[in-house]
Amino acid sequence: MDKQTLITEFTKIYTTQPTAEYFSPGRINLIGEHTDYNGGHVFPCAISLGIWGAAAKRADRKLRFYSGNFPDLGVIEADLDTLEFVKDDSWSNYAKGMIKFIQAAGHQLDVGLDIYINGNIPNGSGLSSSAALEMLIGLIVDDQFDLGIERLDLIKLGMKTENDFIGVNSGIMDQFAVGMGQKDHALLLDTNTLEYQVAPIDLKGHVIIIMNTNKRRELADSKYNERRAECEKALSELQTKLDISSLGELDANTFDEYSYLIEDGDRLKRARHAVLENERTLRAEKLLQAGQLEEFGRLVNASHVSLEHDYEVTGVELDTLAHTAWKQPGVLGARMTGAGFGGCAIALVAKDQVEAFEKEVGAQYTEKIGYAPSFYEAEIADGTKVLA
Ligand code: ADP
Ligand code: MG
Repeated sequence: MDKQTLITEFTKIYTTQPTAEYFSPGRINLIGEHTDYNGGHVFPCAISLGIWGAAAKRADRKLRFYSGNFPDLGVIEADLDTLEFVKDDSWSNYAKGMIKFIQAAGHQLDVGLDIYINGNIPNGSGLSSSAALEMLIGLIVDDQFDLGIERLDLIKLGMKTENDFIGVNSGIMDQFAVGMGQKDHALLLDTNTLEYQVAPIDLKGHVIIIMNTNKRRELADSKYNERRAECEKALSELQTKLDISSLGELDANTFDEYSYLIEDGDRLKRARHAVLENERTLRAEKLLQAGQLEEFGRLVNASHVSLEHDYEVTGVELDTLAHTAWKQPGVLGARMTGAGFGGCAIALVAKDQVEAFEKEVGAQYTEKIGYAPSFYEAEIADGTKVLA
């Protein structure tokens, strides 16, 4: 969305002019899945699908929100001084949570805001539209009131909103990728220390194709919490002999030697995924930096295999996309991305094969699943920003 459209749309809703415009991206994770709450590494990037916003201060302490993606809900109102989760307030809960926690962090807001947003990230598809929204609102408040909040602090407030206001027990990867993203770069983040490296991405004539299963992730939240609990339990079993604070601190050999401590086969598989996926992520980043794309692609595939068989978070839709993608010409690798159980997968595809790829994978998926997937070509974009 361009600035002019944002200004026009804002004015249609609120009859006044916005004072600034903003963009916040969705994200994909190249590799390092379900490692962020296990103290491991992740390797995500921000994408050019995102949510745009426009805002202006008000004279009173009201907050008004409008999303062009939810026009039926109209303008949703709230008050700066009573920000509570109300189910019927729908998407505005993400905004309310963010604003509540910014104030709770000690920032005084003297007046409220009118906020207009509109985006093109498919909701609930694992591209993290929720983190995009949290970071967008966070930046709007930071910018409108000149608060000078450090980006990492804004990211932590986004995660807090997701965890403590919305009630989704997710790790820090999504808000980090959205908030720190840089055009044509991915972020290698150590979720234990929050140290990170910004890695330039050169896919040498390949593009990232996002493949949406178009299945809603109904079970995602409960299964997600179940996996977290399994990993925590496996960690506590390992801690009876090992001085570690997360699975991400273990290398594969140490894990192997102490795996006898884990008393349940499923928990062993979950922990094995967390440990091996972390090692894969570190290797994958090095291979990509060295331009060894085929080896990188094989690790991307291995990540899916591990998520399918050890972590068991894929399902027939994501498996069909990945397995079909692996067999197509010009494909370096493919895997599910995000939490799983539906949502999206990614594939690294040679530019001149994209059309044939989408046709073939689309046809085979539709034949097997009964409805069509969607494809988007992802450009690696900047993180949440004020539009110049
Ligand atoms: P994901 O983060 O994978 O896209 P979530 O279920 O975590 O899925 O978040 C989706 C929710 O975020 C939506 O149901 C909606 O409440 C909110 N949201 C995302 N994008 C927008 C938007 N453009 N306008 C309003 N709300 C949005
Ligand atoms: Mg989300």
